[in-house]
Amino acid sequence: MAPRQCPKCDLRFATADELDDHLARDHAVDPERLPDRRPVPPPPPPPPAAPGR
Ligand SMILES: [Zn+2]
Repeated sequence: MAPRQCPKCDLRFATADELDDHLARDHAVDPERLPDRRPVPPPPPPPPAAPGR
């Protein structure tokens, strides 16, 4: 697993949990609000084929 770089400083953490804890303690950041902590949503399904073909 790649180390997680703190977006607020130069520290790195082995796990997302450690980074979350650091953000909450040292930067007063809610990790849930960081965009790069969200899972990537699946792409939308393709539109249905146009009728009449
Ligand atoms: Zn930091």
